[in-house]
This record gives sequence, C-alpha cells and structure tokens, in this order.
Amino acid sequence: MAGGNYKLDTKLIHAGVEPDPTTGAIMTPIYQTSTYVQAAPGDHKGYEYARTQNPTRTVLQNALAAIENGNFGLCFGSGMAATDAVIKLLHPGDEVIVSNDLYGGTYRIMTKVFANYGIKFHFIDMSDAQNVLAYINEHTKMLWIETPTNPLLNIIDIAASAQIARNNNLLMVCDNTFASPYLQNPLDLGADIVLHSATKYLGGHSDVVHGALIVNDEDLEQRLRFIQNSCGAVPGPHDCWLVLRGIKTLHVRMQRHCENGEAVAKYLRSNPKVGKVLWAGFEDHPNHDIAKKQMRGFGGMISFTLKDDNIEAAMEVLKKTKLFALAESLGGVESLIGHPASMTHGSIPREERIKNGLVDSLIRLSVGIEAIEDLIEDLAQAIG
Ligand SMILES: *Cc1c(COP(=O)(O)O)cnc(C)c1O
Repeated sequence: MAGGNYKLDTKLIHAGVEPDPTTGAIMTPIYQTSTYVQAAPGDHKGYEYARTQNPTRTVLQNALAAIENGNFGLCFGSGMAATDAVIKLLHPGDEVIVSNDLYGGTYRIMTKVFANYGIKFHFIDMSDAQNVLAYINEHTKMLWIETPTNPLLNIIDIAASAQIARNNNLLMVCDNTFASPYLQNPLDLGADIVLHSATKYLGGHSDVVHGALIVNDEDLEQRLRFIQNSCGAVPGPHDCWLVLRGIKTLHVRMQRHCENGEAVAKYLRSNPKVGKVLWAGFEDHPNHDIAKKQMRGFGGMISFTLKDDNIEAAMEVLKKTKLFALAESLGGVESLIGHPASMTHGSIPREERIKNGLVDSLIRLSVGIEAIEDLIEDLAQAIG
C-alpha cells in the first residue's frame, strides 16, 4: 500500500507493507542476509549488497516516508548516524545556524567532530524565528532546529523558520524526535529534511537504536542515499523490523503519552514544592500559540524545577521514584526520569546552562503509558 490518501492511523499500520510474495506472511520478514544471488552479472531483483539495499529496510523507509508525508525515507544505525549523514552534505567553510537548546549528542557532533572539518555552527535562541536573520551570511548553508527542545520544552515556529530558510537558500533540517509524526509533520510546514531518533517514540519500546531521515526533493534524496551507502552507517534488518513493528502502535501510544503528560503536568503545577513546570500545553507557555498551530497535541515530555533549587533536592526526588526509572533516553512505554544538569547536559558549563534556564534542580520526565493514578502517586511520594 502506498501512502495514498489514508489517514495517519491507517498509514502507520499499512504504509509500505505488502504480504510477503513467497509465503503470504502479513508481517515483513527479517531479510537477514549480506548479499543476493544474481542470475548473471547485473541480472538481479534490485538487490545486490545489503549495505546498499535490504528488503526489510526498504519497507521501513517507505513506511516512514508515508507517515511524515514525504517522498523518500532513509534509515540509519542511530539518530546520530542520521545527523552525521546530513552534516556531510556540507563543505569546509560552510556555516550552520542551530537552535541553542538541543540534544546533547547533536551539540557534541557539531562542536567536537564537524568543527574540526572547518564547518562553523552558531547556536542561538530561536524562540523568535526572526533571531536567525542576524546570523545569515554568504557562507550560511543550513538551518537546524529541534522543537520541542530538549530539555526546556521551548517551541520553535517551523513554518516561519522554513520561510526564512527558503528566502535565503538554506537547507532546513527539523529534528522531529520529541513530537513524532503523530503530533507534527515538519515537511508539510516547509522543512527540507526531517530527522528522527527512532530509538525514541517511533520504536517506542526501549529495545532498539535507530535513526531516519525523510525528504521530498529527489536530488537531496540522491545525495543522502549516496552518503548512506558510501559511509555505511546502515541499520541491520532486525532493527528495521523492530521499528516497523513499533510504528504500528504509534498513534495509540502517543494518544496515551499525551493524556498522561497533561495529567502529570497539571499535578506538578499543583504541588507546592514544585517551581516551574515546562510543558507547551499550558496557556502561559511563551510559545503556546505556535505549539497549538503546528502540533496536534503536546506530548509526554515534561521538565520541572523545585522551589528548593539545588542538585541535592533533585537527587532526593530521583532516588525516591519507583515507577519512573532513572535513565537517559525517552519515548518508550515505560516512564523515565532524568537530571539534565548531571546527566545529558553535564558537559555544558554551569553558568552557561543556568543562563539558558537549565537550573540545578531541573528534572526531566518522559511520561510513559502506565496507569495515570500510579504515576501521580509515584511522583507525589517522591516529591513530598
Ligand atoms: C536521542 C536523540 C538523538 C540521537 O539519537 P540516537 O538514536 O540516540 O543516536 C537525536 N535527537 C534527539 C532529539 C534525541 O532525543
């Protein structure tokens, strides 16, 4: 079934998938092979070598394209491998403008790997998309945004950013990991490249590391496909199969992540020991109107601070939760809790992170799909 005109909930289950032609198996087989037999040199069924093509991966790539309303999908061994492939479109001397609150690994690959290859990155506050204009010069080639941002849950206006990118001939990349295609489709809003860490909501079960890119333009697809094959950071067929299985329930999981997220955000706001609660669903969130315009819900990622704003108080909460497991990552069925200042964002100097709002007591939750009463009770006994 092609993407067609089906609604997302149908595409998540059927897009790209056909019964196996040899057996009728309804679920795409795991083609665990490194190569394919040819009848004569060049006489083959479209598959030569498994770094280049694999049937399980092809089905997943087509499914991902369909659910992001794009023409082409490309899969990678991790979200970072997908990020790596995108930056390899650039050349020494090129400049990139990047949102300043973003996944730590993305910041790291830009500043510690690609900066050494002569690519320059400007990390700026994009809560107003027009802030980008001051940083554009003749060398600027790419605009990179992540929204909602990690861990401060800021919202960046995708359509306004894409307009600026188009006016200035920049490639616009949107990391859509936090929202997932259930909540937001950046290609529809003008982005050129959508990036996913499928390790998170797309896989959804904390059992696979995987990355993906989705694009509309065929020339861009060809350039990325060349990098995918030349550099070789491709996923194995079993990992592709796990993601394919994961996305079949994305809509039912996301619906519950959103419901539980809202209930937890409201509970936290009512707790007198809690300081700020960062969640774009609140009407007083600075970019709530933009979130409402570009998202179909507000998701299950929430950060909050304690009135007693110090690391020790945060550590006490982390120690006491029983259902919320202390772990990096997000987007799985189980609830997770983390402390960005000492975990994911530990490499950012304290003054720098506090200036951006990432204070000592900030705690990040990935709200899972357990019973909401149990989740709130767990937070209540941990926060007090
Ligand atoms: C996890 C994550 C990544 C990196 O993906 P991996 O699959 O861990 O390599 C990139 N962007 C965001 C927003 C993430 O949460």
